[in-house]
Amino acid sequence: MKNKTILITGGTQGIGRGCVDYFLKSGWNVTAVDIQPMESGERLEFVRGDTSLEETARQATAKTIERFGRLDALINNAGIGMIGKFNVEELPLEEWNRVLGINLTGYFLMAKHAAPFLRKTKGVIVNIASTRALMSEKDSEAYAASKGGVVALTHALAVSLGPDVRVNCISPGWIETRKDAKHSDADRLQHPAGRVGVPQDIAGLADYLISAGFVTGQNFTADGGMTKKMIYEE
Ligand code: NAD
Repeated sequence: MKNKTILITGGTQGIGRGCVDYFLKSGWNVTAVDIQPMESGERLEFVRGDTSLEETARQATAKTIERFGRLDALINNAGIGMIGKFNVEELPLEEWNRVLGINLTGYFLMAKHAAPFLRKTKGVIVNIASTRALMSEKDSEAYAASKGGVVALTHALAVSLGPDVRVNCISPGWIETRKDAKHSDADRLQHPAGRVGVPQDIAGLADYLISAGFVTGQNFTADGGMTKKMIYEE
């Protein structure tokens, strides 16, 4: 992976941090973008910024090229949740726009500014959506719509940027990002895989999609089988 370079948004914690660690360990150069602070390091460039703003996408790609000279892959991951906070009749437009701005517009902006560099390397985009693009709990309209938008953005980008750039999407289920979290038997057993997910599960699938040369425009659910299991009240 000498000189191969990946840009990962939302890289300071959770799934994004798991991806940063995974790709550094695999020998990639990594640019991490986040609204929270992080230190740059060996093979790691950090860009602080809000991904819902076009300037962040411009800076992140420019700094990547300045430091590493190329861009081979982008993981759009920075996102915020908003589930169970407002029912739809009380959901303020500002909150709807904030969620869509980060979770969907931010992905578009990063793809827009990364595309010219990814075309040069026959690169890859991996967008992180959610199983909530496919199923819902109450009071999750903005989040669900943003993630459904990511699935659609993925196939639109795959068609527009092909054959130079492949674009795929991962829809994670329950990925545990807290340290020392405890899960009940019921939590584990609602997953046919027998456990809750970890960030490395998503990083590993992103790595696979980066190398899967005949796969583009697709959404891959990574949820330990949770959305395939019927659950009935006793
Ligand atoms: P997290 O909150 O632990 O991490 C999100 C990261 O994004 C943080 O580092 C945060 O600072 C950064 N971020 C937030 N807003 C930003 C902005 N405007 N600009 C730049 N950075 C910003 O979340 P996570 O659980 O690791 O989730 C990562 C992605 O995976 C999100 O898109 C989320 O919707 C998706 N996802 C997570 C799960 C899960 O169970 N953890 C399930 C499905 C989908």
